[in-house]
Amino acid sequence: MVTRRRDVQYVQLCEALTLDGCPICAFALMSVYRYLDHFLYEFVNDPWVRAELVESRGFCTMHSAQLLGFRDPTGVAIVYGHMLQEFREALRDACRRYPAGLPAKTPWRRTRAGGELRRTLEQWRTPRVLCPACQIQRNTEDSYMSRLLRGLAYEDFLTSYRASSGICVPHLLQALRRCTVPEQVTRLLDAEEATLEALQWELSELVRKVSYEFQHEPRGHEQTSWQRVIEKLYGRPGMVWPGQVAAVPAPTSREGPTLHA
Ligand SMILES: [Zn+2]
Ligand SMILES: [Zn+2]
Repeated sequence: MVTRRRDVQYVQLCEALTLDGCPICAFALMSVYRYLDHFLYEFVNDPWVRAELVESRGFCTMHSAQLLGFRDPTGVAIVYGHMLQEFREALRDACRRYPAGLPAKTPWRRTRAGGELRRTLEQWRTPRVLCPACQIQRNTEDSYMSRLLRGLAYEDFLTSYRASSGICVPHLLQALRRCTVPEQVTRLLDAEEATLEALQWELSELVRKVSYEFQHEPRGHEQTSWQRVIEKLYGRPGMVWPGQVAAVPAPTSREGPTLHA
């Protein structure tokens, strides 16, 4: 496949590299935001989308929380009313199949009925397909990551990358898994080392300027480094990482994420 030297994603990445924060996180969060917004506006009652949501047991914890940020009680009530109904049916069915029985010496949780009932409900709770919003996030990450790795072959892109705050550590690890030639690894890691060094310096500057003798010095960009180091190490809040329980609070602003951290 022939890729144009400067396609839309290339231009978008170059623009994002002039801002603070990981551009892959930024584009992924924006795509999820647009998807959830579109979902609430257009697809709440769509039978195909609903069937997919039944299979995924609704959105994952993080994306269900992000859905709340849209302040759409009706949409959430319709969709999650259905999820609740599905769970109640599974619960009723499990209770019918594995009744609690009569009092006995063995604690109920250790009985066969107790184990089976819990297993049945845990099975129900396990999504059969990936959360649709997680899928959107992954597709976007995948697409922009490919473009970024290809861009490293060009000197002007590399210069922009070196001058930027780079990508977050979780995305750096994803990038390393996808590098195909040693030169790509070298360029990526050299550029990242420069961004990490710059961030380290900013953090030390922030701390230095707190001390009495340097308090008179003007405050600069280093004043936001304490926030940027968290994003650098763990990715932007709101991202869902494979195999990780969502622990970072989701943005709840109605305005949604932007390129800027
Ligand atoms: Zn990232
Ligand atoms: Zn999700």
